[in-house]
Amino acid sequence: MSGNHDEDNLNAGPRFEPQLYLQRYQAVYNVLLKEVPPILKVADFGCAEGRFLRYLKKLPFAEEISCIDVDKNALEECDFEAKPGAWDIVFGRFVGLNVNLFNGSVTEPDSRLQQLDAVTCIELVEHLHPETLGLFPSNIFGTLSPRLVIVTTPNKEYNVCFPQLKDTDFRHWDHKFEWTRDQFIVWCDSIVKQFPNYSYETRGVGDPPKDFHDVGFCSQIAVFRRKTGHDEAEANVVDMMSNYSLYKSYHYPKRVATETKKGEQDKEEEEIDWDVVLGRHQE
Ligand code: SAH
Repeated sequence: MSGNHDEDNLNAGPRFEPQLYLQRYQAVYNVLLKEVPPILKVADFGCAEGRFLRYLKKLPFAEEISCIDVDKNALEECDFEAKPGAWDIVFGRFVGLNVNLFNGSVTEPDSRLQQLDAVTCIELVEHLHPETLGLFPSNIFGTLSPRLVIVTTPNKEYNVCFPQLKDTDFRHWDHKFEWTRDQFIVWCDSIVKQFPNYSYETRGVGDPPKDFHDVGFCSQIAVFRRKTGHDEAEANVVDMMSNYSLYKSYHYPKRVATETKKGEQDKEEEEIDWDVVLGRHQE
């Protein structure tokens, strides 16, 4: 099921440049990239065809990326993004990387997702039935408990900018709901109330057209951050079951230094501009 182009495919209303789904990916990627210490292990729930995987693979320090979806057909398409190309094999990465595709649900833990640095859920929650959504926080914030959780979802208030959407319509046939900004805040607040070891902030992408001042961004984004010093989460996952089925697993090798002289290799590594690698110069 493709959820990427909902707003970009509505045939009237604002046109986004770049397309909104790309703005969402870039916004989520920027948060991950700026994270210090850097993100090593990340899980993308509701990965669908794996378009965000293209971005995740660019994280310079990522050692393990897990993409999880309940829809096995989507994982088959995701396989194309997950498979290393000739370039990846020949030139290698800054660090070696494993990419795993799992068939499973965001409501279930799995022992292979231990000690995650980050979880991303891009345009996922609005596809969940109420009972499934109710199970989401305890798995993500309680059991997996990564340092960073990023959730994006449509902002219902923006729908007035799409003339073909009636008040009761959703942007995509599979959406179970769409939240106003206040409703999203209520949900985020309920999470940090239940899991006080997290705080959050909201932001958005997709500016409103000039005649619609008060509708907010087209996509709303919440960035949840685990407060430092909390490490109960790691204890929670020790006895977890393997609930997911591993669909595919790939390895991207580490770059092999071409310099033969050790001294030259050390010099090359010394000259790495860490601010650039960590994205600290970006806005
Ligand atoms: N994150 C993607 C696609 C979002 S569409 C993107 O924006 O690029 C929502 C995806 O969530 C679909 O692929 C659907 O199969 C998946 N999904 C629905 N319920 C799920 C669940 N309980 N656990 C994991 N994935 C789920």
